[in-house]
Amino acid sequence: MLFTELQSILQSPIWQTAPLLPIEHIAVDSRKLFVPENTLFVAIKGKNHDGHHFLAEAYEKGVRNFVIENEKVALPFRERGINYVVVKNSIRAFQKIVAWHRSKFTYPVMAITGSNGKTIVKEWLTQLLAEEFNIVRSPKSFNSQIGVPLSVWQMRAEHTLGIFEAGISQVGEMEYLQRVIQPTIGVMTNLGSAHDEGFKNREEKLEEKLKLFENCSVVFLPANLVENYPKVVEKFPKKNPQAQVFFWNYELSVSKNAVSFVKKGFQLTCKLNSTLLPFQDEAYLQNMALCAILMHFQFKIPTQEINKRLALLKPVSMRLELKQGIQQTYLIDDSYNNDLAGLQIALDFLANQDQKPAKVVILSDILESDLSGKKLYQQVARLISAKKIGFFIGIGEKIFEHQEAFRDIPLTAFYKDTEDFLSKGFFQQLRNCVILIKGARKYAFEKIVQKLEYKAHRTVLEINLDALVNNLNFYRSRLKPETKIMVMVKAFAYGNGSVEIANLLQFHRVNYLAVAYADEGVELRKNGIHLPIMVMNPSEESFSLLAEYHLEPAVYSFEILQKLADFCESEHLSLKIHLEFDTGMRRLGFEPQDVGVLLGILQKVPFLKVASLMSHLAAADEEQHDDFSLKQIQTFQKITQNLEKKLPYKFLKHILNSPGIVRFPEYQMDMVRLGIGLYGVEAGGKFQGNLQPISRLKTVISQIKTISKNDTVGYGRKGKVNQKSRIGIIAIGYADGLSRAFSNGVGKVRVRGKLVPILGNVCMDMAMIDLSQVPDAQVGDEVIIFDETHTIQDLAKAIRTIPYEILTSVSERVKRVFYSE
Ligand SMILES: *Cc1c(COP(=O)(O)O)cnc(C)c1O
Repeated sequence: MLFTELQSILQSPIWQTAPLLPIEHIAVDSRKLFVPENTLFVAIKGKNHDGHHFLAEAYEKGVRNFVIENEKVALPFRERGINYVVVKNSIRAFQKIVAWHRSKFTYPVMAITGSNGKTIVKEWLTQLLAEEFNIVRSPKSFNSQIGVPLSVWQMRAEHTLGIFEAGISQVGEMEYLQRVIQPTIGVMTNLGSAHDEGFKNREEKLEEKLKLFENCSVVFLPANLVENYPKVVEKFPKKNPQAQVFFWNYELSVSKNAVSFVKKGFQLTCKLNSTLLPFQDEAYLQNMALCAILMHFQFKIPTQEINKRLALLKPVSMRLELKQGIQQTYLIDDSYNNDLAGLQIALDFLANQDQKPAKVVILSDILESDLSGKKLYQQVARLISAKKIGFFIGIGEKIFEHQEAFRDIPLTAFYKDTEDFLSKGFFQQLRNCVILIKGARKYAFEKIVQKLEYKAHRTVLEINLDALVNNLNFYRSRLKPETKIMVMVKAFAYGNGSVEIANLLQFHRVNYLAVAYADEGVELRKNGIHLPIMVMNPSEESFSLLAEYHLEPAVYSFEILQKLADFCESEHLSLKIHLEFDTGMRRLGFEPQDVGVLLGILQKVPFLKVASLMSHLAAADEEQHDDFSLKQIQTFQKITQNLEKKLPYKFLKHILNSPGIVRFPEYQMDMVRLGIGLYGVEAGGKFQGNLQPISRLKTVISQIKTISKNDTVGYGRKGKVNQKSRIGIIAIGYADGLSRAFSNGVGKVRVRGKLVPILGNVCMDMAMIDLSQVPDAQVGDEVIIFDETHTIQDLAKAIRTIPYEILTSVSERVKRVFYSE
C-alpha cells in the first residue's frame, strides 16, 4: 500500500512531503516498530495513553507515515518531510484501512467469537489443518478493536485460510470487527459470563456477538443457545438468509474411535471417547469437539484422519516466559511454536529487556509459512536486524540452507538440528545476555531451555507482567495526565524482583523509582535502568555510590544534610536531593518547624539541588483517620508554600501512596508514590476489583506417606491426626517465605483444587500437609501457596498481618518466572 491510497480509503485530506515508500507494517506503539520507513503509525487516544504524544519519537526512529486526529503534532515536521492524514477517529480509520486490505483476498476467512476458548480453538485448528491450508491467524489472543485490525493486516496472497478471533466488551463494537474481518465462516464457542457488565442482559450480548456473522455463508453456533435464547436465535437466520446455520454439540461415548459424528438436520453432534484424547478436562473436550466438527463438516477431512490428528494435539501456550538462566542470562522461553507474527511479538518482548547488555536469538526453521525459503528468511533477517540483535543462532535444515540471508547480523551461527547445537557445547559461551529461544515444536527447544535454565529448588513465584501493567494503568487513570508517578521498588519490588519490574516500569514510562537503600539502586543501574532513582535511607558510607550511580538521596535530618554537603564540597560534586518531612507519621523526616533553618543551609549549599519535597501519610487507607490525613496534607502544603517562595528554582511535591491516590486524588500534587497497588493489593479495599493479583507462589509435593493415628508429625511432635491419614511433604518452608505462623492448620494450601491444612510446625525448607481430602494427590503435584483465588489477603488475615508482609517475605532463593500472556 502507498500512503497516497489513504486519501480515497479514508476520504480525508492528506499531507505528503516525504517520499512514498510502500507501507508494510502498521504500528500503534512507537516502542514496537519494525522497519520504520515502511511503517504507518496510527496515533490512538486511549484512556491512559495518547499516541499523539509519541509521534515525535516515532518520527525520530524513521517513521514518515501517520494517521492522526490532531494535526498540531505533525506541523513541526512538515518542512523535514512527513506524510499524514487527519481523521476524526484513529481507531475507526485504522479499521477502515485494514478492511480495505482484507477485501483484496478471496480465500475463506473464519471468525471465532465466544466467551471462552477462542484462542485455543484457533490455535488447535491451525495445528490440525496445517496440511491442507497455509493459515493466517490472530497472534496470541489479539481480538480487540485494535488487536483485530493488527491481525487481519497480516493477510497476504500466499495464505489460503484466515482464522481470526473477535472479542467485545460492550454494545456497538462487533459491527466494526465484522467489517474488518469480513468472515465467510462464523464460529461461536459458547456464551458465558465474560463481559456481562457491558450489556443489559445475555440476550443483548448474544445479539451483539451474532453481528459478527452477518454475510457469512455458514455459521456454527453452540446448540444450547436454542434452548436458552430461543428468540434471539430464531431471528438470526431471518436477518441472514444467505447463511447456513448449524448448531454444534458434543456428547461422551465409549466407541472405539476418539471421535465420530452425527448429523440431524441442522444439529451436528460430535461423539467423543475422552479416554482416547490427549486432554480430558471438560473445557478442552468442548474445544476439541468444536475443532473436530469444523474439520468434518466444513473442511471435509476424513474421520479417520481427524482421529489421527486429534491424538497428536499439543497444549497451547500463549505465554512468553522470562526466566533466570545460568551465567547471568535471562531466557525468554517461547519453545512452542514459530511463525512470523509470533516472532514479531517475541522480538518485541526481547527488545524491551534492557537488563543485560547483549541480546541473542535462537530460532528454528519456520514451518507455518508458505513463503519460499529465501524470501521467508530474508524477512526473518530483516526483523532480527530491525531489533538490533547482535547474535543470531539458527537451528534447522532450512535456516541452515538459507544462512546467507543473515549476513548483515554481526554474529551468527547455524546448526542443522538441536542435537548438533547442544553437542557443540557452544551455549556455554552465552553470558550476561538476554536469550530468546523460539522454535517450532518438533525442534524440541525445551532441551535448550533445560540446559540454560537456572535451577533453584522447585518452588516458584510466577509474576504476571500483564497484571502489573493493568494495575499501573488503573492508577494512571486516576491521575491527571501531567502528574508524575514514582514507583516504589524497595524490598526487591515488594518481593517480586526489582530488576525485572523496574525494567517493565521503565518501558511503560513511569517517571521515578524509589528504593530503600543505595545498594538496591546500584543493582538497578547495573541492569540497564536509567530512570531517576530516589534512595530513602542514604547512609554516609553510601555517598560515593550515590554519586557514581546517579542516585538521589532522600534527606531527612540536619545531620545527614550536613554530611552530604561536606561530601559534595570535598569531592566537587553536585547531587539532587529529596527533602522528607514528618507531618505525623513520626518516622524519618524534618519537623515542620525546621523549615527556616533548613532554608538557611540550602542557600549556602547550591550544589545540593532539591528535586522534590515529600511527606508520608500514616493512615491513608483508613477512613476513620481521614481528618488526620487531611491535617498531614495541610501541614505539608504549608511547608511547600514556604519553601516555594524562598528557593530560587522549582521542585516536585508529593505525599500520596497507593491508597492515597484513590482516596485523596485532589492532593496528587506533582507526583505520587505508587507501591502496594501496583503489586495487586488495594489497601483501601474499595477498588480491589480494578486490580489484578500479580503473582502466584507454588511448590510441589516431594513425598507422600500414610501415617497412623498414633504418629505425630514434625518438630515438637505438634502435628496430630485422628485417623490413619495420607500426608504430603511440600518443598517450601519458613526460609522461603511460608511463615511459621501458618503451622498447625492456621495456614492452608491448595492441591488439585482443594484447600488442605498445614500439619504440624512449618520447617525451614519444607512443610507437611494433610491430604485426606485429596485421595488422588501424587508426588510431583503442584501445591499453590497463594494465587488469584487463594489470595495474599487471605493469608495475611490468617496470621493477622498485612498483605505487604506476605508479599515481601518470599525469599530471594525462590525462583521468579515472569510472563506475559
Ligand atoms: C513504601 C512507601 C510508599 C508506598 O506505599 P504503599 O502503601 O505501598 O503505596 C510511599 N512512600 C513512602 C515514603 C514509602 O516508604
